[in-house]
Amino acid sequence: MQVGGGLEDTICAVATPVGEGGIGIVRISGQDALAVAEKLVRLRSGHLLGSTASHTLHLADFFAPCTETLNACGPSAHSGSRQQAIDEGLVVYMKAPRSFTAEDVVELHCHGSGLVLAHLCEACITAGARLAQPGEFTKRAFLHGRFDLSQAEAVLDTIKAKSEGGLKVAQRHLRGDLGRAVDRMRTQLLTLLAHVEAGIDFVEEDISFVAREELLCAFHKILEDIDQMLSTARSGRLLREGARVVIIGRPNVGKSSLLNSLLREERAIVTNIPGTTRDLIEESVVWDGLLITLIDTAGLRETVDIVEAEGMKRTKSAQGDSDLVLNVFDAKELLGGIDQIESKTLCEGKDFVIINKMDLIDRVESQSVIDSSRRLTPCEVIPISVRTGVGIDQLKSAIRSHLLHGDLEAKEGVTITNVRHRTALQRAGESLRHSMEAVRAGIEPELIAVDLRAAADALGEITGVITSDEVLDQIFAEFCIGK
Ligand code: GDP
Repeated sequence: MQVGGGLEDTICAVATPVGEGGIGIVRISGQDALAVAEKLVRLRSGHLLGSTASHTLHLADFFAPCTETLNACGPSAHSGSRQQAIDEGLVVYMKAPRSFTAEDVVELHCHGSGLVLAHLCEACITAGARLAQPGEFTKRAFLHGRFDLSQAEAVLDTIKAKSEGGLKVAQRHLRGDLGRAVDRMRTQLLTLLAHVEAGIDFVEEDISFVAREELLCAFHKILEDIDQMLSTARSGRLLREGARVVIIGRPNVGKSSLLNSLLREERAIVTNIPGTTRDLIEESVVWDGLLITLIDTAGLRETVDIVEAEGMKRTKSAQGDSDLVLNVFDAKELLGGIDQIESKTLCEGKDFVIINKMDLIDRVESQSVIDSSRRLTPCEVIPISVRTGVGIDQLKSAIRSHLLHGDLEAKEGVTITNVRHRTALQRAGESLRHSMEAVRAGIEPELIAVDLRAAADALGEITGVITSDEVLDQIFAEFCIGK
């Protein structure tokens, strides 16, 4: 296995974030965790760390182990005079299997200085540990059966959550809600598979007709559960990753002003010289538990300016990756040429038409522009004035309800947030559909069993019962060292 090396190694890493802090923690995990720690820790109580009760904190001094006679440098050899002091702090020994990794773990709590933490880590390595790979602590917890793969992934999602909604879902996955639901479906599938493999003859006799109907009914029930889970994937992704909302439009229509207004701060430079926003400006806000990244784009216009042309290229790509596109128009310009809406707006189900600067036209003109825009485009048309603030609240609530279809809260029950889980569920669903068709067509049980097995395996990938080293490497490589 590439990430993590062997489980027989004892690993160490700084577990707290980079930078200065009140406290920093070095974590050591593995069969020699205690032996490593005892080479650099001296308890103020005079006791040996190994003799203390598991999960209790002790005041201690930390030293660099003496390298030349490391073996003679055990706890009894701590004179303090031969070893270089690193820091003082607290130490806790967590005896296997009652630790995060389910291995022997020692945590050294020192002052939160990058230098002290680096010295402590070096000391652990000198004493026989090796530096942990990214995500190796969590990976070990998974490999020791401490939790399933979906829970391991939820550790990262919990750490990285940027909105209340995302945190709630991550914590539910961490408790094992997703794993349990998927396991239930997989167990049902395996039971059905056993029946099929036992060679139920559901083709000719009466009894087999019943068996076939029952089988189809059971398949259908599982398929419904899979489809129900998949139906949460869109809002789940948005809760986990947040939504990307792109603001596009011709120069000077008020895109940067709109971004500032939505963020309520002066982030983008607002000028009345066309083409000033030459790069993408990204800012994030959290509205009702949903993280929204707003992207102000370069003015969309034909240009020979290389810098601006690059900006426009990025605009196109941001548009493609977005969850919602706000196509901004100038109300006054629309009076002179309403058809620009048609030519500029894609309306792929994720476009809003925003008519800005409504303050510049009178009531009759406003009505006419709004009416003719609505006739022209199937997109939602929202009239606003960034200058007076009219329409901004309506725009915000339209954005929220478009993104989460009014579902602003992470619902109870299982929510799919992760592409890996979604594609595994889709594959399970496809295989199950195949096996249903095969049952209906009266195909031999052996062939039905192949699809059923594939469906069960796809579900097993979510919890990690079925997995490959490459998949594990990919998942844990996303973690930082120390997690
Ligand atoms: P961008 O090039 O599309 O990003 O446009 P800016 O946000 O830089 O705005 C261009 C000009 O339009 C600035 O002078 C803004 O103050 C002005 N502007 C923006 N929104 C409004 C509005 O609602 N009403 C009026 N009257 N002017 C606005």
